[in-house]
Amino acid sequence: MPTSPRLAPRLLAWFDAHRRDLPWRADRDPYRVWVSEVMLQQTTVAAAVPFFDRFVRALPDLAALAAADEQQVLKLWEGLGYYRRARHLHAAARRLAAEHGGALPDDPAVWAELPGVGRYILGAVLSQAFDRRLPIVEANSLRVLARLHGYRGDPREGAGKAWVWKAAADILPRKRVGDFNQALMELGALVCTPAKPRCGECPLKSACAANRDGTQHLIPSPKKQPEITLVDEVGVAVRRGGRVLLCRRPADAGRWQNMWEVPHAERRPGEGLDAAAVRVAAELTGLEVTPGAEVATVKHGVTRYRITLRCVEAAAPAGEFAPGFYAEGRWVAPADLADYPVSAPQRKLMTKLAHPDPQPRLF
Ligand code: SF4
Repeated sequence: MPTSPRLAPRLLAWFDAHRRDLPWRADRDPYRVWVSEVMLQQTTVAAAVPFFDRFVRALPDLAALAAADEQQVLKLWEGLGYYRRARHLHAAARRLAAEHGGALPDDPAVWAELPGVGRYILGAVLSQAFDRRLPIVEANSLRVLARLHGYRGDPREGAGKAWVWKAAADILPRKRVGDFNQALMELGALVCTPAKPRCGECPLKSACAANRDGTQHLIPSPKKQPEITLVDEVGVAVRRGGRVLLCRRPADAGRWQNMWEVPHAERRPGEGLDAAAVRVAAELTGLEVTPGAEVATVKHGVTRYRITLRCVEAAAPAGEFAPGFYAEGRWVAPADLADYPVSAPQRKLMTKLAHPDPQPRLF
């Protein structure tokens, strides 16, 4: 897959003129590059910027991150989603602090062993921070490379995936590798967009197969969409003496590990909301509850599931919380709910609980 040697200077010149001024581009500090790249794995640049600023203000370097409590890291990550990224980042920082003297080394072998560091993060951090000649592939650069070469297979799977990583390696210049990788991503984000790429403004247009053939709309081939499953859930805001029961998920839960939530679970077919609330409270917390008003409905998606979570308040004047599924339960004043790291749908729910609509309530 030959690539013209003139492409790199053209793309770098375009990048120098058009690059966005982003907080992690102010310098090549490996810690800031790493944090930003982990955030950007599943999040757009615009959405990541305020989270990045908040994160590095609170935890400005590797030592601070390694010393932080996991709950603080999760709280700083709250709203970004994909919390496994934050847990891995934290665990990797602790390992670098313990085993490598707190340094972020210019050594691919060390990075490859860190939790959460795959080929993308390794290439992104080491090329940007140390100018290592390593490729990166993410959604934007994948699109640019597939169009540039007129690649008609699926570059996300199997042989196509191997093809696109080789294309990303073959196109790398000898110098300014980190800038080049960023330029490829920036071009995909700003010019070679999924719909209506602006080929007239593109520095690669004279070498681009898709531009020559008019096949931009066909490349890359569309992602296979998973079949959607609808799920009805009940949530139970168990109240006692003006406080709400908040539960911490176990460290080995499938998702949202060690984050807090109002107990919730899927409703059985034909099960009424009140009956479901009583059952779920008993199964997950060991408490016998009397259901009351429905306080909120939150719709959200998790992978291929579209979940409708209907939450009812319930009174539990007596009885002890029993850890079973949950690792821990705490009775929390509504004003303090904001202090706990929770998922986005749970945050919506807790905002409702802390600031209920002005309507008659049972409790
Ligand atoms: S010429 Fe068009 S399709 Fe080709 S890389 Fe540039 S923007 Fe993308």
